[in-house]
Amino acid sequence: MAYRCDICGKGKLYGNNVSHANNKVKRVWFPNLQRVRALVDGRVTNLLACTGCLNAGKVQKAARGRRKRVVAAVA
Ligand SMILES: [Zn+2]
Repeated sequence: MAYRCDICGKGKLYGNNVSHANNKVKRVWFPNLQRVRALVDGRVTNLLACTGCLNAGKVQKAARGRRKRVVAAVA
């Protein structure tokens, strides 16, 4: 699985866990990615977006379910 945001390109970060005794162990930080159904260029696609992009409103979500029928007013 690709750990990369489809919107901004945010990905994994690498570094060390450092103990109190200054022992260093490699570790990875993952972005908080969510799979979302989004509207891109008028089409519905599933994409991976980081929560930063979702909170910033950079993803337009696609509506689910049936649309409500418009009832014509009786004159
Ligand atoms: Zn992002």
